[in-house]
Amino acid sequence: MRIPLSSPDITELEKDLVMEVLDSGQLGLGPKAKQFEEQLSEYIGSRFAIACNSGTSALHMLIRALGIRDGDEVITTPFSFVASSNCILFERAKPVFIDIDEKTLNMDVTQIENKITERTKAILPVHVFGQPANMDEILKIARKYNLPVLEDACEAIGAKWNGKLAGSFGTAGVFAFYPNKQVTTGEGGIIVTDDEELAAVCYSLRNQGRGNDVQWLSHIRLGFNYRLDEMSAALGTAQMKRIEEILKKRQQVAAMYLEKLRDIPEIILPTIDARAEMSWFVFVIRFIEGIQRNQMMEGLLKRGIGCRPYFTPIHLQPFYVEQFGYQTGDFPVTERVSQSTLALPFYNRLTEQEVDQVIRAIREELQIFR
Ligand SMILES: *Cc1c(COP(=O)(O)O)cnc(C)c1O
Repeated sequence: MRIPLSSPDITELEKDLVMEVLDSGQLGLGPKAKQFEEQLSEYIGSRFAIACNSGTSALHMLIRALGIRDGDEVITTPFSFVASSNCILFERAKPVFIDIDEKTLNMDVTQIENKITERTKAILPVHVFGQPANMDEILKIARKYNLPVLEDACEAIGAKWNGKLAGSFGTAGVFAFYPNKQVTTGEGGIIVTDDEELAAVCYSLRNQGRGNDVQWLSHIRLGFNYRLDEMSAALGTAQMKRIEEILKKRQQVAAMYLEKLRDIPEIILPTIDARAEMSWFVFVIRFIEGIQRNQMMEGLLKRGIGCRPYFTPIHLQPFYVEQFGYQTGDFPVTERVSQSTLALPFYNRLTEQEVDQVIRAIREELQIFR
């Protein structure tokens, strides 16, 4: 791709800190992962932070730690990356989907209560594309039914709802650090929480079920190896030192797109709730009816412009169809939205000339439909 969809922002600081780890010889279970955890808990304002090797493992540990199991239900959204739902399946519980709000693309909070049953064990909202879900309503319902809230904030580090950071509302929040996220460790994730007991179980689950203060070869529960290695953690510490700069750069790129795409009538721009402050993860546009998204995508790809349909609904993923029998039409807003979305090249160092090049290509491809 001449202009890729995403690209990590690695400076000399990242390189130096990773090299420091390689020179130290301590590649696992060292000070960098601890330092990264301290940075995150300070940034979010949480008592605890448990770093691990992916956002998916972070979500999985929370489901396990809350004792969610066979036949239990977790209310979540079908408009997300598959991991936010798979983590529920790992423990043989059932994701109960609710459709999304067509403006914010987050779960339609007016539908949550209808889906609560005896078996409901948690609500798992996803802050899609870096826009927080309506946490006022979600917390209100969660309190009423005494349910834990697990925030999948994997796409939303630095985003705010009513001035408060995404990931700091729920029983626990999760961030992910894959290279296309705002902050990267290569592969990595983290849990943030104020719940001491939950944190202790997650520290243990991450480290083969070891007790936190017992002998190395004593395993008190069935655990995993979900630890974050020191090179990845060091990369993360550098990125967290730069977080304000990173978020600002992304905000500037998003502002360029918003300004320059404003007058193209075939394009629907992202809608941001007045209470939300975006942390831009991706820049996703929608096409109005009559414009074939797939055709636009192929045209742009041929011109060397990276782009992708974000997301294919989870309930229509082949595995979910096979396992649960979901059909087209089950979640109409999610389906309508996913058929019309396209993520455009979006990363910190994207230049104005490149943004102009993307927009010129879009305008030219749109000619086909005029
Ligand atoms: C990235 C992401 C995850 C976790 O991804 P990993 O690749 O396992 O780190 C989970 N949920 C959402 C919504 C994501 O975007």
